[in-house]
Amino acid sequence: MKSTDQTNRESMNKTKAKLRDQIIYFGKLLYEKGLVAGTDGNLSAKTNTGTILITASGVHKGLLNKKQIIELDINGNRISGELPASSETKLHMEIYRKVPSCSAVIHAHAPWSTAASLNNDFIDLNLLAEGKLLFGRIEVVPYQDPGSMELAELSSEAATRSRIHILKAHGVVALGQDLLQAFCTVEALEQNIRILGISRTHFPGTLQSQAGESSPELPDIL
Ligand SMILES: [Zn+2]
Repeated sequence: MKSTDQTNRESMNKTKAKLRDQIIYFGKLLYEKGLVAGTDGNLSAKTNTGTILITASGVHKGLLNKKQIIELDINGNRISGELPASSETKLHMEIYRKVPSCSAVIHAHAPWSTAASLNNDFIDLNLLAEGKLLFGRIEVVPYQDPGSMELAELSSEAATRSRIHILKAHGVVALGQDLLQAFCTVEALEQNIRILGISRTHFPGTLQSQAGESSPELPDIL
């Protein structure tokens, strides 16, 4: 028997019209939370027929409208919509191909997470109770040019290992069973890295693990 949550999740994802509304909603939320600025970032979601809805290239994520959401098949061929699809379409498509359980992808230029990636190859969040529980160590994918196939390859490989990773000097990529889950993951990672950053800047010398030294396996959310 399905849980209430599962039934709600299925009905939430049922129609393309609802998914378009959700992309618009979470685009606005990403913008309002400072996780993207202007035309930064991109969002996509898988429909119940297996097609992908993705934001158009160069559009403001806080001011999205339905014409700015393009429908593609899993190979990236256009099904509906006039505008060019996101410049990171390859990255989204590779993730859907390699992680079949994924139904939503959010790429955001979250400032604390991106800043932390500049001088680190991974971010260890085990110092924080919530960070340890949710994330453990976060992978930082080596720098590749935005929109490139090389970036799509590295990002989608990382997506097979964890529900979120950071693109070095660029931003974060989160997967979810729906856009809400992907958004929550972006928001929670950003908050944890922000706390770590505040601690290092404002309370030097006080860093002491409250959550043990071990790095747990990253939780398999999908
Ligand atoms: Zn980007």
